[in-house]
Amino acid sequence: MKPEVLAELRRILGPDLVHTAPEVLVCHSYDSQDYSAMPEVVVEPTSAQQVSEIVKLANHYKIPITPFAASTGRTGGSVPIFGGIVLSTRRMNRILKVEVGNRLAIIQPHVINDHLNQEVAKYGLYFPPDPSSKGVSTVGGNIAECAGGPHCLKYGVTRDYVQGLEVVLPNGEIVDTGPFGTRDYASSALIGLVTGCEGTLAVITKAYIKLIPLPKVYRTMLVGFDDLTAMARTLTGVFYSGILPAVMEFIDNAAIRCVEAYLHAGLPVEAESLLLIETDGDSISTEIEFNRILDICKNNGATSIQIAETKERRDQLWLARRSLNAAIMRYKPVKIAEDIAVPRGALLEMLEGTKKIAEQYRVHVVNYGHAGDGNIHVNIMLENDPEEIKRGEEAIDEIFRLTLRLNGTCSGEHGIGITKRKYCSWEFQGASYTIQLAIRDTFDPNHIMNPGKIFE
Ligand SMILES: Cc1cc2nc3c(=O)[nH]c(=O)nc-3n(C[C@H](O)[C@H](O)[C@H](O)COP(=O)(O)OP(=O)(O)OC[C@H]3O[C@@H](n4cnc5c(N)ncnc54)[C@H](O)[C@@H]3O)c2cc1C
Repeated sequence: MKPEVLAELRRILGPDLVHTAPEVLVCHSYDSQDYSAMPEVVVEPTSAQQVSEIVKLANHYKIPITPFAASTGRTGGSVPIFGGIVLSTRRMNRILKVEVGNRLAIIQPHVINDHLNQEVAKYGLYFPPDPSSKGVSTVGGNIAECAGGPHCLKYGVTRDYVQGLEVVLPNGEIVDTGPFGTRDYASSALIGLVTGCEGTLAVITKAYIKLIPLPKVYRTMLVGFDDLTAMARTLTGVFYSGILPAVMEFIDNAAIRCVEAYLHAGLPVEAESLLLIETDGDSISTEIEFNRILDICKNNGATSIQIAETKERRDQLWLARRSLNAAIMRYKPVKIAEDIAVPRGALLEMLEGTKKIAEQYRVHVVNYGHAGDGNIHVNIMLENDPEEIKRGEEAIDEIFRLTLRLNGTCSGEHGIGITKRKYCSWEFQGASYTIQLAIRDTFDPNHIMNPGKIFE
């Protein structure tokens, strides 16, 4: 990094918010997947104006700039693969306003998902997107990845709650759509492009978040099955019935055993698979839907049903669900974690297919995910052995080929980042790929904004 650039960054931010110490750089070199790369400098702006000045500087010198939030991303989105500047949003962490009548929260990007919900719950309001990382991941990061989560089945993903954005474009210009952005065509297009762009088109400096009323009651059940067909039949049965549950989460036997060993939550370890199902809303409709789903489960071959009769039990089941990622790390030392989605009707074929592929490549597979959305987290678990890891990578390629044959998509909710670029190029070909490249070139002709992500 040229001394004049560092000097200019210090002029914009003051010396305390510009870091070149190795220990700070290392902390900004990785996210929750394996790949890492060191930045040359880390900056911590506190306002959109400062972000704008930093981006203008980067654009002038053609220095890569990588937005960085809580770094829980699973595809390397915040890893600065070409070095340059890491722009941490850490100091832009305030809830600016909750407008109860407008059901709107105006926030800075680094507000933690759970913190926003704790605050708005005081007014009986709710921000539904609930990635399992919600205790640590930021709403800015959720918007940049268009994060999903268990309750997105009923309520929609992050995009559905972005009512407006303030962003800094790669030329340093600040654009604020205001809270009615989704109602006017031009702003709506901008919001749509920036949401899920993984920081490749702009830096989000403020968000206008739509809120909805907090459900009054929850009813939760854990349903066990001895075979995948019965699980899939039940899933389809619920959707045929016309009910839209809040949650329908799938957990396979290997994942059940891992999390039970980890938490001792009383999960049925003999079950081939589990569905965690939840209904929510007002007390009457929630109960009616819950009972109808119970009947559907019984009529379609459920072998065990546990009902969470207390808040403590519901919390325990949710802790088990949200701990799956950590729990399966105990299974084998190496994990290749992928995230695919297929049409709900193809879920059975996908799950059976992953098992066959794992057998063929002599590796272990652990599956869990948001079954109601057809979104499965496929984890290939391996010994730390180069030959086995190579087989694991080949198995993953095969799993992505199967996903695409089933009209699925290579990223259910974890973005593309670095780790999915190859599969993205398999999925998006011809015009759908070149249009995306052209959009990027229009926003960022110098390719300074999070380069090396999404596109190979
Ligand atoms: C245990 C675990 C469970 C998870 N569960 C889920 C899940 O259920 N659903 C799900 O969708 N994801 C899940 N994730 C993935 C991850 O938590 C989400 O992608 C989350 O949205 C990332 O937020 P973050 O604040 O950590 O962002 P980071 O990881 O820091 O950044 C993510 C991307 O956003 C960009 N970015 C960050 N802030 C901004 C900004 N202000 N402006 C522009 N670009 C920005 C970064 O450059 C990067 O490309 C999980 C991760 C873990 C570790």
